Amino acid sequence: MRIAIDIDSTLHHYWDVLSDAAHRRFGIELPYEEQFSWGITRLKPEQLDVCIAETHREDQIFRSQPYAGAVETVNAWHEAGHFVHITTHRPVDAHDATAKWLAHIGLRHDELYCSDDKVSRCRQIGIDLLIDDSPENLRRAVDAGITAATILHPWNRDVVEEEDILAATDWAGLAAALEARHEPLRRRAAVIGASPAGNVALRRT
Ligand SMILES: [Mg+2]
Repeated sequence: MRIAIDIDSTLHHYWDVLSDAAHRRFGIELPYEEQFSWGITRLKPEQLDVCIAETHREDQIFRSQPYAGAVETVNAWHEAGHFVHITTHRPVDAHDATAKWLAHIGLRHDELYCSDDKVSRCRQIGIDLLIDDSPENLRRAVDAGITAATILHPWNRDVVEEEDILAATDWAGLAAALEARHEPLRRRAAVIGASPAGNVALRRT
């Protein structure tokens, strides 16, 4: 399969990074459990822009810890031969720091794409599955015939219920749901033994 995967709030818990920035810069709390919509109304638009820009600086990017199981799941899919396109709304000038962070956490992928036209790009390159937390992107993916899936957050509960979207609260649940529905994702590289030289032989099932 050809899989596109978002970063913020999909591979790591971005909300805490953003919330910390809002508190530090403007003294405004952003309670995660009360964020039922995509719009962040507690901040003025220009304040939100400042906070988002701050979270995408290299030092802030490197604060992020991937969700448990995210790297292992994506790496297993990649090892099994699936194409992995990492897609993010981060600005182009955050590309290099983001690439370094992906290398740092050991997430294997085929390409990293920083742009605000995620779903259009997914259509251009024949993506089968988009994993993304944004309600807008999830709806657009469904409209484009792309399978949509997400880590469940307060802001995407409605769209998950309204549309045919796979969702789970963590990567173990998401991987299980996706692999149950999509047979190709069950292909995981299986270790079948070691060569005399000690190299591990891999078999794709
Ligand atoms: Mg996101």
